[in-house]
Amino acid sequence: MLEDKDAETTNLEKLGEFGLIDHLTKSFTINQKSTVKGIGDDAAVLNHTNKKTVITTDLLIEGVHFDLSYMPLKHLGYKAVMVNLSDVYAMNATATQITVSIAVSNRFPLEALEELYAGIRLACKTYNVDLIGGDTTSSKTGMLLSITALGLAKEDELTYRSGAKPNDLLVVSGDLGGAYMGLQVLEREKEVFKVNPNSQPDLEPYSYIVERQLKPEARKDIPELLKKLKVKPTSMIDISDGLSSEILHLCKNSGVGCNLFEDKIPLDPTVISSCEEFKIDSTLVALSGGEDYELLFTIDQTDFEKIKGNPNLTVIGHMTDTSHGANLVARSGAQIPLTAQGWNSFNTSESE
Ligand code: ADP
Ligand code: MG
Repeated sequence: MLEDKDAETTNLEKLGEFGLIDHLTKSFTINQKSTVKGIGDDAAVLNHTNKKTVITTDLLIEGVHFDLSYMPLKHLGYKAVMVNLSDVYAMNATATQITVSIAVSNRFPLEALEELYAGIRLACKTYNVDLIGGDTTSSKTGMLLSITALGLAKEDELTYRSGAKPNDLLVVSGDLGGAYMGLQVLEREKEVFKVNPNSQPDLEPYSYIVERQLKPEARKDIPELLKKLKVKPTSMIDISDGLSSEILHLCKNSGVGCNLFEDKIPLDPTVISSCEEFKIDSTLVALSGGEDYELLFTIDQTDFEKIKGNPNLTVIGHMTDTSHGANLVARSGAQIPLTAQGWNSFNTSESE
């Protein structure tokens, strides 16, 4: 899905590095008050006044973190920004700027990078963040993409992984498992395509989960909602590796245990039906699937009334004393210790 093979393509060497950077970034605009100087000098200049600066970075490698045979470049650009913004929102901060660094082999024409930057531009516009710099270089094979995101928060708004207390409620935004099941559908279609290149997959019944995989949205709305509801989470993390491993991070960093109730885990009907089709347990998918980019946080019990009934938020458990451990309370009532089954980039071929 890289490019239409018959379309005109432009070799990157034609433009030179400066021409390329200018071409890719000229249509970006600066909208944040705190951006003093964006692209065009040796370094960007920011003025984050009296707030705290949040900074996070991610490195994505072709063949390890993304597969261009079913990931259109525009989606890759968009998703790469989302992955970073999600980390900013998980600090209960507002995202303000990003930098983008790329390394590409000569396999990629200018038009491919235009697509990538179209996705990055859409993400910047939708989430109101400024592109303020980056770096451009060549690679021997494939594409590397590194994005850094910056954000702002008042000191007392910042939410760490370490603040959960016993009896706090465990809350998750949205629903889980969709991105993983979307990947299963895309992987299956890729195999079908290899056997029969003329096959036209009907992805319509799977549109929700395929979109969760190819075009995830970071939960910018959740810190905003919590502020409106006057709820300050005691701890927070974003779900990039699966619910189970994120819960274990909160427990470890906060020195608490947890009861997670299986029957409370929010699942979209498409996730349930695709799990039946693929004969995979939907709880396992929610626990270990990853890439959902929802927010997982804890709140004091006295804040329950403020979030009760909100369609964006589900209480899925509560924190306990650390000696209790982190457990899944199954539908049967059995307590099963949670294990980190989130993808580990060193021992599986799945994406992180
Ligand atoms: P330097 O030689 O100092 O590294 P560059 O020529 O690489 O400078 O970059 C010039 C300007 O363009 C800088 O503002 C830099 O941040 C920006 N820039 C370089 N590559 C990219 C990119 N891929 N995306 C966005 N901005 C970029
Ligand atoms: Mg440079």
